[in-house]
Amino acid sequence: MNRLSRADMMKMFGSRGDQMEHNVVGGCELQNREGVGNGMGSGCRGSSAEGRGERIGSGAPIRYSWTREDLRAIYDLPLPELLFRAQTVHRQYHDPLKVQRSTLLSVKTGGCPENCGYCPQSAHHKTGVDRHPVLPLEFVLEKANEAKEAGSTRFCMGAAWREVKDGPDFDKILELVRGVHGMGLEVCCTLGMLSESQAHRLKEAGCHAYNHNLDTSPEYYGEVISTRTYDDRLRTLQRVRDAGITVCCGGIVGMGETIDDRIGLLLELAKQNPHPESVPLNVLVKVEGTPLAGSDTVDPIEFVRLVATARIAMPRSMVRLSAGRLSMSDELHALCFFAGANSLFAGDKLLTTANPGEDHDVTLMQRLGLSFFEASPREEWSMAAAVG
Ligand code: SF4
Repeated sequence: MNRLSRADMMKMFGSRGDQMEHNVVGGCELQNREGVGNGMGSGCRGSSAEGRGERIGSGAPIRYSWTREDLRAIYDLPLPELLFRAQTVHRQYHDPLKVQRSTLLSVKTGGCPENCGYCPQSAHHKTGVDRHPVLPLEFVLEKANEAKEAGSTRFCMGAAWREVKDGPDFDKILELVRGVHGMGLEVCCTLGMLSESQAHRLKEAGCHAYNHNLDTSPEYYGEVISTRTYDDRLRTLQRVRDAGITVCCGGIVGMGETIDDRIGLLLELAKQNPHPESVPLNVLVKVEGTPLAGSDTVDPIEFVRLVATARIAMPRSMVRLSAGRLSMSDELHALCFFAGANSLFAGDKLLTTANPGEDHDVTLMQRLGLSFFEASPREEWSMAAAVG
């Protein structure tokens, strides 16, 4: 691992390095400066549960002018300093003791014409995934109700398509969106590429968020997928934004990419204005039959660094622990929450791969002294603002 020493960083950043030292140690004093810092200026008050409700929206202005060097310098900070800074930012924008529980259901599985190297649902890979068409409304509503009863406030529906096709399938999806929205859950969909009119129809049906991951850096993207381009992804994201749907966009680590590729992914996300409201960070689940099944395992500490850098670069976003949690220890979960992750995907299954069960996550929350949001975080925040 070729990490910069603190002395190297001071040399590299000169006065910015001096500023960094001051701010890292002094945390709360960092205000609106150029360079590696962001959004740590006006609050720093959430040192305990007493801070709940105060820090929401109280952080310094959000920054979109990140450079690769900025993010790498943050990522490479000595771990205790990185965690301190990430936690400080986290407390300015989020309740540090609350985690959003989300549920993801595959509503149309398998047979996807795309060739994403990590995906067991691609028709290009022999993985033995059972295919099924769009699930019936009653079944999906039952699953959404189970998720709600178990404490999820967000219900995501995924369909293995390259793009949505207008017609009966899309009409069924709109029906699912209306139904789940009617249950008071945040509805998120991930259906592949969208046209403008489809994005608007989803919005009208009650779709709150649309997931469309960039997966990795633009430079590494072609190593993972060749049936679509990075620009295709960005176009759909723009249509989602234009329709007034919030963006859920993140990536996957453990696909053979370098640390610089991971930074490149964060840079693409952190340059977006506004930032994606939701940033799912996935650890590759190695599925036999996919081209990436033999990839090297991710160093857990590197993953924590990624979470912390995402938190600092995109202070307001929900940072979600998504695929790959089964391979993560409780201690790694704890570090990720401290680094600024504030959501997890719950339930025994995540699309087609296994996920920690309900009991595990409830016990984990109890062990860590954390709790799940009981309503959508947006609603809780506005309630806190109203009484604050
Ligand atoms: S587009 Fe989605 S479902 Fe299709 S292969 Fe890629 S990740 Fe899998």
